[in-house]
Amino acid sequence: MNILLFGPPGAGKGTQSAFLVEEFRMKHISTGDLFRAAIKGQTPLGVKAKSFMDKGQLVPDDVTIGMVREALAALGGQSFILDGFPRNVVQAQALDELLAELKLSMGKAIFLQVPEEVLVGRLSGRRTCKNCGAVYHLESKPPKAAGVCDQCGGAELLQRDDDKPEAIRTRLNIYAETTMPLKDYYKSKGKLAEVDGTGEVVGVYKRIKALLTA
Ligand code: ADP
Ligand code: AMP
Repeated sequence: MNILLFGPPGAGKGTQSAFLVEEFRMKHISTGDLFRAAIKGQTPLGVKAKSFMDKGQLVPDDVTIGMVREALAALGGQSFILDGFPRNVVQAQALDELLAELKLSMGKAIFLQVPEEVLVGRLSGRRTCKNCGAVYHLESKPPKAAGVCDQCGGAELLQRDDDKPEAIRTRLNIYAETTMPLKDYYKSKGKLAEVDGTGEVVGVYKRIKALLTA
């Protein structure tokens, strides 16, 4: 079962992917996480990506597509969830080519639907563990002990630079212009599945699971 999760920033793609990984042992391929790991490791890819990411802009397609090619080629038969890729039609076409080249197939493209006013609250309250990357929310998912990561005990739960107001605005605009058209792209291929991404995290997961096990 290979799937793609897409939707606006803050829709809950990473949160829902963590459930899918836990239950179905799928490989989570998040281009945002891959870029953040490259930045942390100060690799040339990270240096290149950082200037775009901090401003909320997309990293250039050639860089992003090359990184996804490597991730897909390294799967070794494990099924995958793509999260945050593709983000525009050029990337979607490149993904189709990559899948054909690597003899992989992809099932549903699941779109997580969340209204903009909810997204802003989710993004501005998101906090990420500097050490392990676990994701929290000041209101909907605070850590058990204030400021301490439940998973690794790390004591730095930070706000992402691109979760600050100006970058949030840029990201939501880019999403509306370049990522939303992917709904038509996957609809025309008969792969689109829309899921209501509002309400409790567990409720959203139940809806996704129902789709996958139908
Ligand atoms: P994405 O990967 O789509 O950008 P995340 O999974 O990181 O989104 O979620 C964004 C923020 O919203 C995080 O702080 C997360 O804890 C919170 N969140 C995710 N899903 C829900 C939900 N169903 N209800 C409330 N908060 C949520
Ligand atoms: P995310 O973690 O998915 O919110 O992504 C964080 C940032 O990483 C985005 O705002 C972009 O700067 C960059 N990024 C992630 N995925 C892509 C992609 N598919 N294409 C271009 N840039 C991306």
